[in-house]
Parts: sequence; structure tokens; C-alpha cells
Amino acid sequence: MKILKGIPVSPGIVIGRVHVLDDARGRRIPLRRIIEDQADPEVDRFEAARGASIGDLGKVHAVAVDEMGEETARIFLFHIGALSDPALIEPIRTMIREEHVGAEYAVAEVFRRWTQRFAAHDDAAFRTKVNDLQDLADRLLVHLQGGGRTSLAHLSEPSIVAARDLTPSQTAGFDREKILAFATDLGGPTSHTAIVARALNLPAVVGCHTITALAEDGGTIIVDGDRGRVILDPDEETIEEYRVLITRSESHILSLREIADLPAVTTDGVTIELVGNIEFPEEAQAVLELGGVGVGLYRTEFLYLTGLTEPSEEDHLRVYKKCIEMLKGRPLTIRTVDLGADKYTQARAEIPERNPFLGLRSIRYCLQHMTMFKTQLRAILRASAHGPIKIMFPLITTLHEFRQARHLLHDAMEDLEELGIEHDSKVPVGMMVEVPSAAVMADAFAREADFFSIGTNDLVQYTLAVDRTNERVASLYQPTHPAVIKLIRDVVRAGKRRGIPVSCCGESAGEPIYAPLLLGLGLRTLSLTASGIPALKQLIRGLSIPQCEAIAKKAISLDSEIEVAAYLRDKVRKIVPEAFEGWADER
Ligand code: PEP
Ligand code: MG
Repeated sequence: MKILKGIPVSPGIVIGRVHVLDDARGRRIPLRRIIEDQADPEVDRFEAARGASIGDLGKVHAVAVDEMGEETARIFLFHIGALSDPALIEPIRTMIREEHVGAEYAVAEVFRRWTQRFAAHDDAAFRTKVNDLQDLADRLLVHLQGGGRTSLAHLSEPSIVAARDLTPSQTAGFDREKILAFATDLGGPTSHTAIVARALNLPAVVGCHTITALAEDGGTIIVDGDRGRVILDPDEETIEEYRVLITRSESHILSLREIADLPAVTTDGVTIELVGNIEFPEEAQAVLELGGVGVGLYRTEFLYLTGLTEPSEEDHLRVYKKCIEMLKGRPLTIRTVDLGADKYTQARAEIPERNPFLGLRSIRYCLQHMTMFKTQLRAILRASAHGPIKIMFPLITTLHEFRQARHLLHDAMEDLEELGIEHDSKVPVGMMVEVPSAAVMADAFAREADFFSIGTNDLVQYTLAVDRTNERVASLYQPTHPAVIKLIRDVVRAGKRRGIPVSCCGESAGEPIYAPLLLGLGLRTLSLTASGIPALKQLIRGLSIPQCEAIAKKAISLDSEIEVAAYLRDKVRKIVPEAFEGWADER
């Protein structure tokens, strides 16, 4: 039995069989012998993978030309050329036919020989192509193995995935019938992979460092997403202990469900608006069922991450209308696409940026890809004719950006007006405050924005200079840092002064221990993942605003994030002990 400690990012406990996802580079290709009759179908498989790879590369090349210019994008033309070069391709076909081996083995073997030849070449130009050849081999192998590393269609029983890392789009593509939970070597507490895990109710532990090295395919595994523990080959006693924990946590969740229909009101009668964060339209239903009163953040970029092609205006409109229908008159806050950083479409993932969280991300990307942006804006406006919608721009850093985005929205409105297409011309237009520059300048922004939503996930990352996806610095990622608290306080104050609503939609809004602090700082609207709403409601119903204000006052006077965290934990434990019942001891 091996116990690994990681970062708990999505609650719940699952016991099951582990399926280890190989990293493309670390893939071992076993020698598979075929009989003579299988040679033609095997060559056909290879040809299909080759065709699919050339198709991918064509798309990647088009994106690269757009983003990096013709010259830099030429590398992808080299890749396409190599996949059509008989010197590379013929030996693979011959090997399958004459040596009677599977296509994967032939690809791996022929590319291995070419890579060795290039690596030993006198001419440096050849040596620099070694990585390109490896990429090409990986690409073919990915297609030969079913169209993607996360293709898990072959799994015969529901399994728990162990992987080095998972992207948000890989996670969003998991078949919930087949995947019960996951654990990864890498990953941080508020990465979008973690956020998707919560959205899908998939227990998850990230940052385990050695899970892929230690786990053996098919072995028994326990993923404890409450405590951040992963246990490989557990003994009978441990399995029994965990069965008891599973039963206990299930009954706790059921008891919380009873709270869902009660109002989120403090002991002194102040109503707190609890709304949901969603990534997929279906979640809007879960938000209401679990006691939310609307959607405070719809992360619409998932439309781009789950589909194979860029969504059309009609695709956008269809999902927005679906959400509106489910919400039955309650507000839907649509955040415009926040692509980039850790959320890439397949084609963009192949052209990595050096520093993606500081790169062409979010509103910056939209303002450089106006056609795509306007498609979404038109769809949101059209949807606004069907129900109450608010529009929110992410990662606003300068006033100029907010003005540009708003200007494009007005353009889209004018287009619709000319065409006589219905929309709400008074749709509220707000912004996320998730970059320190926006928080510091909140007064100026509050003159122009209709509302603020504080995104603590990025605000913490950028204020403390800690990558939210990096397990190596996860212990430095502290929402209780006094600098973060002061920024939140100032944003709330600016909103009050200018009379615009301010909410919080980062993961901190859903963490019960932060609730008294956030309410004490003046927030009255919290937006969080649906499954967290009942527990937060239970806590809020045990707090009063004067208590929260005293807690915030004290917290803000402390110097260190550790002191603040300990103080908040202690206070919540004393004031609302029942809110602690379902918490794992190690949280
Ligand atoms: C945030 O940054 O807090 C936020 C809500 O946006 P996201 O997590 O999607 O970056
Ligand atoms: Mg953000």
C-alpha cells in the first residue's frame, strides 16, 4: 500500500481501478505481431492516422500564421511535408507488410531510426529537427490510439484516471460513465482543470508528484478528494475505513440538501445572494436545485474547448437560450470567452506561449480576434431578448480595454438594430476585477462599468505572483494574504461609492472559512460552484453581519496569511460548529 499526499481540488471519495494515462513522450509501444491477412487493414489504419495528422497540422498552421506570422508558422509546413515524404512513409508501410507488426510499432520504430540519424548528423540544421520528428511520431500515435490521449472508449469498466497532468478540455471531455475520479502529478488548487472537476462532481487530487510513476494499470486505488490523499493498493482495513467515510459523507451531503430550499439569510436578517458558477449549460439546473438564485459566472470558453470547431453565432445562441429557459427568469451573467493561459483550443495548444498567464489571454485575445468576439457578442445580445442577462468582460487591466470591449458591443447592437433583431439595449455590462491594476483603479472603472465581479482565482495569482496551476508553489497560493484582502476591501468600497453592485466569483467565494471575511468586507453576492451552495448557506444562516464585520476588521489588521487563515478557521469553528461537521480533519 502506498499513500500519496496531494492537493484536494474536488471533494468526494472513490475506490476503484486505476487507469494510467501515458504521457505521449513516455509512451512505450509494445511489439504487436499480426498475421499476413491483417497487413492491409493495418496499413489502412496507418493511412487514416496519417491523413488525420495532416488535417490537424493544416489547422494548426492556419492558426500559427494568424498568430505568429508566415515565417514562424513554416515549421508546420515542414511537418506536413514530412508526413508526405516517401523516405519516411514507405519504410513504415513496408515494415507492417514484411515484418508483420502493428502500425503503432512500425511508426515508433521507423521514427526512432530517423531520429537517431538526425541526432548524429554533422549538419546542425538536421539536429534541430529531432524534436519535430518526435512530435510527428507522437501525433501519429495519438491518432492510431483512438484520436487523443484521453480517448478512453476502450475502458471496459468505470475507472479512476492517473495522469501526469490534464488540461481543462481533456477533463471536460471525460465520459462520466467511465471516469469516476482522477489524480495527477502536476496541477494547482484553482486551475481550470480543478474547476471542471468540481463542475462534473469528479473527486480529484492534483499535485501528487509521483502517481504516474507508482500506479499500475488495473490496480486498486482510493482517491480522497476531501483530504487530498491517494492510496495505491490499499489493504482491506483501509478499504473498510474508507467505506465508512464514504457512507458518512453521503449522509452529510443528503442532510445539507434539506438546507437548499431555505433562504441564505444571516441571523440578523440580511439576505445574501448565492448564485452559481457554471461551465456547461446543464449546470444551471443544478444551481437552482441546490439553492442558488441565478448564475453569477458562465465560463463560456468551454464552448470552444469541448467542441471540435469554433462555435457559430447560432451555437452560442442555442446554449444561452437553454440556460435562460432553465433559470426561469433568474439572472444569467455571461462572461465573454476567457481563452488562453491554461484554456486552449486544440490548435492553439500546439503553439505554446512562453508565459501564458501573462500572455495573449482572455479579453486581450478577444480584442485581437474581433470577428470571433463579435460573433459571441451578437449571440449574447440576441439571447438578451429572451431573459435577464448581464455581460461581463474578463481580465480587464486597463480602462482602454474596457472601453474597446464596450465599443464592440455597441457596434454589435447597432448591427442588430439595423437588421431589426430584438435584444435588450440596456443589458448591464460589467467586468471581472481579477488583476491588481483593476483593483487599485477600481474607482475609475466603477464610473464606467455597471457592475464588478471579483475573481479571486486570478487576483490571488497576480497579486502574489503565484501560478495557480503549479503544484510547486501551491503552498504560496493564499487567498488570506493581507494584500489580497485589502484589494477586495477597496474594490467593494469603490463599488459602494459609485453605487454599482460588487460580487465575488472566485473559488474563495465558495470556501466556507472565507465567508465571514467576505461578508464582513461588504460583499452580499457570492458566486460559486453548485455543489458548494448548501454548505455555504448553512454557514451564512449561522452568522450575523456585525460578527462578520468584526472578523473582517480583525483579519485585516493581521500581518500574515497564515495568521489570517488560522483566525478565520477558529472563528468559524466557534460560531457555527455544525458547519464543520462535514469537513475532513485535514482541510
Ligand atoms: C477568477 O479568476 O477568479 C475567475 C472566477 O475566473 P477563472 O477562474 O475562470 O479564471
Ligand atoms: Mg479569472
